[in-house]
Amino acid sequence: MTLIQPPSDQVLDRAAALLADGKLIAIPTETVYGLAANAWDRDAVAKIFAAKQRPANNPLIVHVAAVDRIAEAAMMPLAPELQHQLDCVVDFWPGPLTVVLPRASHISDWVTAGRDTVAVRIPSHPVALRLLERCPFPIAAPSANRSNYVSPTMAQHCDGPMDQPGIHQFIEMVIDGGDCDFGVESTIVALQQGGPRLLRPGGISAEMLADRFGITVEQLTQATNDRPVESETGNEVTSAMLAPGMMKEHYSPSTPLVLYSATQANSSSKRVGRIAFAQLDASDTSRYAVVETLSDSGDLREVAKGLFAALRRMDHAGLDLIVIDTCEPVGIGLAIMDRIHRAAATPLS
Ligand code: AMP
Ligand code: MG
Repeated sequence: MTLIQPPSDQVLDRAAALLADGKLIAIPTETVYGLAANAWDRDAVAKIFAAKQRPANNPLIVHVAAVDRIAEAAMMPLAPELQHQLDCVVDFWPGPLTVVLPRASHISDWVTAGRDTVAVRIPSHPVALRLLERCPFPIAAPSANRSNYVSPTMAQHCDGPMDQPGIHQFIEMVIDGGDCDFGVESTIVALQQGGPRLLRPGGISAEMLADRFGITVEQLTQATNDRPVESETGNEVTSAMLAPGMMKEHYSPSTPLVLYSATQANSSSKRVGRIAFAQLDASDTSRYAVVETLSDSGDLREVAKGLFAALRRMDHAGLDLIVIDTCEPVGIGLAIMDRIHRAAATPLS
């Protein structure tokens, strides 16, 4: 497997042919790198689950090239209320917004994990779009990492057997499209009767979405975990399970990770690394074996962009502990804090 850059038309033609042939490839998107398969090919999609060691109850996001191709994944036409909700947010596309809609029957059960809904988005990364335009089918693509590990935001992350035992042997090609612009996964919103619900914060902020829908952020984000939903297979699933990206432990490095607080700063004699969101002063810096500064000025867009790569580097730095800064959960800060809280859950054994 080789990293291919820059992706010429011939490379993208070959990538589309590999997908048509049921193979998996890693592709750049503006959020994170995706592990791509033909979403209509049941066996190819099943390979994604094997490669990632992903639980079969965690559905995938389906990527399409344009709004008029949503019917390749979702059941169109939509009910008027859902169509109205989609109209409110459609111009965030192409971009880091995923909507959950009633599924089309020709989408594999593997993609939806047996649910009667499907998650769809139009990515804005030019390489992803050029590839989608070449494919007569939609592309299912979760992040190109072993399940529960840190998502890849650089092509090199998709190629690392150390990070992802086993995953590279399933990938026929990694297309290098540079570092991902957003660095955190897409925002996921369920469009549904009774009002849209935020399932996962991401690059498009809850405030921006609520504003478009004409509702409050509280209405958009209100907990829906206690409302059981009937899946297509007749099993009851809660909406927490509808977005397993919302599971407590996710995005986790192997090294223990804790959120920074002033009290911890003096207490540890172990080899500690610090991920800082803005410049630390010299006395602070000297307390740590390694310091990564994600933004000189504390710009949260830069923090999000560099976050996962920093977690990976720290995870390979032979540390006993990683300490990470926190931020206000507002705008993209909500997605950053969401990922950090999950990454700081009990590390994988
Ligand atoms: P990722 O591995 O980051 O691509 O995660 C994809 C996310 O999309 C997961 O958290 C899924 O649970 C979520 N997702 C995919 N399909 C659906 C669906 N039908 N309903 C709700 N969430 C979904
Ligand atoms: Mg993922």
